[in-house]
Amino acid sequence: MNEQVRKELESFLSLQEEQGLLKRERVLEGSQGRSISVDGRPVLNFCANNYLGLSDNQEVIQAAKDAMDRWGYGLSSVRFICGTQQIHKELERRISSFLRTDDTILFSSCFDANGALFEPLLSEEDAVISDELNHASIIDGIRLCKAQRLRYKHSDMESLKSCLEESKQSRRRLIATDGVFSMDGDIARLKEICALAKQYDALVMVDDSHATGYLGKTGRGTVELCGVEGQVDLITTTFGKACGGASGGCISGNQLLIDLYRQRARPYLFSNTLAPAICGGTLKVLDLLEAGNPYKERTLSNAHYFRSEMEKAGFDLVKGETAIVPVMIYDEPKAVALADRLLQAGIYVIGFCYPVVPKSKARIRVQLSATHTKADVDRAVEAFVTEGKKMGLI
Ligand SMILES: *Cc1c(COP(=O)(O)O)cnc(C)c1O
Repeated sequence: MNEQVRKELESFLSLQEEQGLLKRERVLEGSQGRSISVDGRPVLNFCANNYLGLSDNQEVIQAAKDAMDRWGYGLSSVRFICGTQQIHKELERRISSFLRTDDTILFSSCFDANGALFEPLLSEEDAVISDELNHASIIDGIRLCKAQRLRYKHSDMESLKSCLEESKQSRRRLIATDGVFSMDGDIARLKEICALAKQYDALVMVDDSHATGYLGKTGRGTVELCGVEGQVDLITTTFGKACGGASGGCISGNQLLIDLYRQRARPYLFSNTLAPAICGGTLKVLDLLEAGNPYKERTLSNAHYFRSEMEKAGFDLVKGETAIVPVMIYDEPKAVALADRLLQAGIYVIGFCYPVVPKSKARIRVQLSATHTKADVDRAVEAFVTEGKKMGLI
């Protein structure tokens, strides 16, 4: 390797290490779940996106196996060459019916779905208006298109309105937002966003990755929760969080837009088809969600209970109503150190630092799941209190 490059990379990595910011992959010694073994130690898991506890659901696993038996391991093709099976069409139909949209197009991930969404629809004469806290994949997707880029202050409707005013000359305008913001766990103000979109004749896309399956009356996400069904042109979401946690994602929405993506979306045209096993597993998840979804109430009551106990204990939380509960520490090394201590105490959580969150806004993001028991949540709160006191945080 080039000597200069080597030196620069080594100094980057040692600086990360010195500042206690080096990301380490902790290796799980088994499947994902409520209680897992990490580095040889059994711990309660409070950092997975496994909101409904379906990551190790036996029915989902069996459905994935059955799909693999019936449809094979992989397609060795993109969708439009020879990579579409009935199970892919079936999954697209079922997601459209679940999300109450016209049509759906599958991707290998929601990261890809967001990478696909902007470029075919928007060019120089258009504008995309994006919440400043949107997920990295939305930001990257926007970077791939040539539209004018406007960023509004997080969930600030006045700021959104001035972006809409500023872009009045544009041919097309698209407002892009997370449904639930992944690092703060708060919900987008979709009612007001859709009203502004209507007033200014803009399109709306919502990335519901952290909501699909557990928010809203029947688990259909923030679009249902906020009462804006039919007013959102495009929804993107992942199957890698509440909906089984394997992988895969989609864009769902207006027929003409989905038709456009089947012609022009680059990750659809140039990346391999979703594996049949994932389709089979996700179809089973949809069965479970549509058959009453007994999990989501548990997810939310666990989150509510954790929030209230942590507030009582004096921790500074970002307010919200989702299963993401950010415990604000602000100082980066302290957030990392607290997470390490909690892991020692059998509670697996992660400290998040720049660039995942803004500088000086370090936090521990706690995520609740339907599989946690009340005793699990009590244990987590106890550990936070014990370690938090030792570190002088409360
Ligand atoms: C997790 C997440 C993604 C990425 O989803 P993958 O399917 O894992 O690629 C995209 N958007 C948001 C808002 C997310 O939280």
